[in-house]
Order: sequence, then C-alpha cells, then structure tokens
Amino acid sequence: MKITRVESFLVGIPYEHGAPKTALATSDGRVTQDAVYIKVETDAGVIGWGEAFGFGGCLMSHLAVQRVIAPLAVGRDAADIAGVMTDLYRKTQGMSRNGPVGFALSGLDIALWDIAGKAAGKPVHALLGGAKRQKIAAYASLLRLDTPENVAKVCEIALSRGYKNIKLHERSTAAVAAAREACGPDVGIMLDTNCTWSVAKALEMCAELRPYKLAWLEEPVYPPDDFEGLARLRREGGIPIAAGENLGNVMDLKHAIALKAFDIAQPDLAKMGGISEMTKALAIARAAGVHIEPHSPLFGPALIATLHVLAAAPEETMCEFYFADLENTPVGALGAPRDGFFTVPSGPGLGVEVDESMLARYRLE
Ligand SMILES: [Mg+2]
Repeated sequence: MKITRVESFLVGIPYEHGAPKTALATSDGRVTQDAVYIKVETDAGVIGWGEAFGFGGCLMSHLAVQRVIAPLAVGRDAADIAGVMTDLYRKTQGMSRNGPVGFALSGLDIALWDIAGKAAGKPVHALLGGAKRQKIAAYASLLRLDTPENVAKVCEIALSRGYKNIKLHERSTAAVAAAREACGPDVGIMLDTNCTWSVAKALEMCAELRPYKLAWLEEPVYPPDDFEGLARLRREGGIPIAAGENLGNVMDLKHAIALKAFDIAQPDLAKMGGISEMTKALAIARAAGVHIEPHSPLFGPALIATLHVLAAAPEETMCEFYFADLENTPVGALGAPRDGFFTVPSGPGLGVEVDESMLARYRLE
C-alpha cells in the first residue's frame, strides 16, 4: 500500500469564545483558529487524515509538509508506520527534533494510523490495545481573557456547559481569584501562564496563588525547557507543576522526568511525533509515576487522535478542549465535547470524516 500523495491544507476558521478577541503575538492579526490538515492518499484507495501543530506558525508547518515531508513520504509503504517514521526522522534529523518539520512529521504519523485503522476495519484505539472507556472528560481550556470580569463570565459559560475543570491562560492573581469566586471550591482550576516568569518571580507568584488551590500551574517559567527551574518550583512553590507541550521528542520528556521537572507531563502528539511517539511518552511517564494530561488545543484530526490514545490508556486522563465555538468543525460532532465529555470515536481509523468542502471554504493556503 504505497503513499501516492501528501497534501496540506492551511485553514483559518472564525470562532467565538465569549469575550473580545486578542490576536496571537505571532499571527498576522487575523482572528481565526488556524490549523494544518494533512491528507495522505494511497494506491489502495485508502485515505488518511492527520494534523500538524501550528498555532501562530501554521504557515511554517504547512510549508514543512509540502516542501520537506511530502517528497520524502510519497512512494513509501503506508503500512510500515515505524519504518517510514524512523527513516523520515533520520533524514531530517537537523530540523525535526522540535519545530515545524517535527510537527509536519507528527501529522503524517497520525494520517498513517488513520490509514492503518481503515485498512484493518478497526478504530485506532483497537490497534493500541482497545478502548478502556467510551467517554473522556474534557476540561475547558479558556482562551486568554485578560480582565477578571471576562474570566468570571466565561467560567460561568463553561460551568453551564457541564465542565468540572477549567484552565485559565492568564497571568494575574486577580484573574485566578475571579475564576475561583465564579466556580466555587469544588471545580478544578488550572493556570497556564505560557512561560512568562523567571523562577524567582514564579516562586513569588506561587505564594500569592496558593490560597486559590490550583490543580496545577502550567509552564510558569521561560524557557520552557528550564527543567532545573521547574524542579525547584516543584520543591518550593507548593503548587503541582505541569509542562511538556513544548517538548519536541520523547528523549526530551525522559530528560525532564529524570530532572523531576514536573508533576504532570503534557506532551502534544501534533508536535512530538504523532500517535507512535505519544504511546511511547505515556509508557515513559507511567514507568516514572508521572501523570500525563496531554496538550490538545486543536479541533481536527490531532484532537481525535488524542482521544484514541487516551481511550486505550490504562489511566483515566482528561482531554484538553480549547474553549471556542468554531463557525464549523471539519471533523463533525466528535470534535467537541457534549455536557463536558468527549465521545470516543468507534468507526474505522480515526473514526471521523473530514469535510473537504469545509476545508476548501476556510483554506488560507
Ligand atoms: Mg499550555
């Protein structure tokens, strides 16, 4: 079953998230949710879909698929996932340990698993050992809201939709206080600062934040791979530390765990090697006694792939849902939680149909 074509779609989908929009610092000012969808065709007629991480840098991931990965993948045996992925990582070793080329490879891996499932007539989770659950609790990962008023307002919207855990992308104690006030004592609240503080500043902030009983503090320091700094925060800050979305590969995860950098590891399969590497990451974390809560602020095949991996994992884990209402969802209803839970797909492969007319409608490149 040879790969005959690899096509990349860069799409930007309008959305609402309950508050005024602030463009990503790295974007060109558009206010859409951007994504890179990857379509892999084979000579057997089986088509697979993947997704590469991108966010504000989607154009780079899109170009990496088109210019670097597609030419290397065409002609290869789609059924030999480990062989293809190992070879393509080695061929691109100077540029794929992290960053857009690694993200593009991650998307290819997801598409190859979709193809493998479809060829076998089984959902991907069946190929990973079988689903242990049919539903996965979602946590509402709120976009940056800035003001305590907006934080309180959007927390209330999330609670009304059945979420029991809410993550903030804020940087102030006032925002956390507003969330705790709106949510009451029994809702899990997490704070993601996106690498904003020094270790010393983060220690000061931990002292301020401790009364609000955060379930975790995510990526408090820059750079994100300051594993010693994160380990110090774990020892002295008094709040569980989560990080890992900026890891590019499982070796980095191993190093971080060896340095005791976090309580909760957050690898992203659209960044660090797709379903194949995420499965390894789970095994590494499991062996070390580190809990995993994957990073998945995405709406397409990579989010669906995350659901398959989590369904097959022995441990109960939440799945992140980026709390935005898209104008349309190209993977259909399975791409969003209902009453606070995702439904695990049961169809062959990823178990979703990608609506290509919708991709055409929102295509940027
Ligand atoms: Mg984060």
